[in-house]
Amino acid sequence: MEGSQAEEDHGYHLFPERHSGERKKGFTLPSIFTKHRKCQVMLNIALETNPYAKLLMDAMKSSGCTVYKDRHFSCEECDGAVSGGFDAASSEIVLCQNNIQNQSHMNRVVTHELIHAYDHCRAHVDWFNNVRHLACSEIRAANLSGDCSLGNELNRFKFGFKEHHKVCVRDRALRSILAVRKVSREAAEKAVEDVFDTCFNDHEPFGRIPHSKRDAKYAYRDFQNRDRYFANL
Ligand SMILES: [Zn+2]
Repeated sequence: MEGSQAEEDHGYHLFPERHSGERKKGFTLPSIFTKHRKCQVMLNIALETNPYAKLLMDAMKSSGCTVYKDRHFSCEECDGAVSGGFDAASSEIVLCQNNIQNQSHMNRVVTHELIHAYDHCRAHVDWFNNVRHLACSEIRAANLSGDCSLGNELNRFKFGFKEHHKVCVRDRALRSILAVRKVSREAAEKAVEDVFDTCFNDHEPFGRIPHSKRDAKYAYRDFQNRDRYFANL
């Protein structure tokens, strides 16, 4: 399925406000206004207080890709059950104001999408033609964003914590690929399998898998010290 760009749709149908030139009709303005405002407030809180998001914002800056709240984030109405997306063409993170339910959900979505933005910044990711590139970034986003840290107690009991985490990362990466690319399940599974070990073990810029806010706080502190250390050389 790689390389058939003409046939691929890039998942934009999930984000009707993107590239359609038209805002979605049928919503009442006051409710959209409230949701939009609420989304922006939650975004502010995530960027100012969440250690995962703060670390990634700093890491982007150190890599020469400073992220600006007004330029790089956009609260929008989305279709289906998607919570967010990274629009590589415009380097914008889309936050689905109609699907993000609360602050902790916002924190996870912002973190997940910032990991894609970070990958986009540091590596030449071919999002549209190379499904393994996409798979790698989805594995990293699921692994490092906390998406898999709360998890399903039953699975945790069945597989043990470490195995459960891996199973969850694999599963989430697969679902994310299938949501945004027209590839077969087999092709997506193969892409995830091919790059899994390498990408699962790549913890940049966290230096570890942050399983909790506390882990993320330590990772953030270490990241700042790492910067200071290099600055003193
Ligand atoms: Zn993703």
